[in-house]
Amino acid sequence: MSTLPVDVDTSGPHNVDDAVPYLPAYDCQTETNSNVGAEDLRFGRHDSISILAAGVTVTYFVDLDTFKSDIDSEFVAASFQEAVRQWGPIPLTFKRVWSSKAAFFRVIASDVDFRRSYARAFFPDYPQHSRLLVIYPLALKHKYAMVNILSHELGHIMGIRHSFAGERERDPSVLFGFHNPYSVMRYTDPLNLQVHWLDIDLLIAFYRYAYDHPEGYGGFPIQFIVPPGNS
Ligand SMILES: [Zn+2]
Repeated sequence: MSTLPVDVDTSGPHNVDDAVPYLPAYDCQTETNSNVGAEDLRFGRHDSISILAAGVTVTYFVDLDTFKSDIDSEFVAASFQEAVRQWGPIPLTFKRVWSSKAAFFRVIASDVDFRRSYARAFFPDYPQHSRLLVIYPLALKHKYAMVNILSHELGHIMGIRHSFAGERERDPSVLFGFHNPYSVMRYTDPLNLQVHWLDIDLLIAFYRYAYDHPEGYGGFPIQFIVPPGNS
């Protein structure tokens, strides 16, 4: 049996002053009512936790038409695969496909300049039209941080909330594991945003837990999302 601490926090958001980093502090639009912070791995939205089922292949389509150049689109595609590699032995395969119809999610560039936002992703239970990985101009301006940015967004795609969601985000979440001030799911200078070994260990531990505990975790039922194309 797991002895990992459970901490369900449903408190609302509040504002915290930004740190003053070299680059604008990481800010993604996947969860918008949040600010800087640190710690742990968090799962769950609304009344349940959704994660991608172990062993599935997750397909994505890079919409070249939305990028200003093929160099940008191919850079993002290559950076995404590097982000997958940084997450190490996760039980998922991400595969680029060339038809949007066949894809679980789409990668698009947006001209909308949020000024402080680098990117936006989605959670695995989102409906098809919302399963978008959106790259904002700020990310393309700081290409050297792209792998780090996508490593964070990939965390969301796998079902992980911001590490500070418990304190600063409206949607309830549940903590799995223990505090990790270096999690890739925090907000910091994106140059410092890297998948930490504990992010990987906790995600793998959570998969083990989830398949052993059909009753769910921390009062949240667990939903395993099987993308189309997997049996
Ligand atoms: Zn985020």
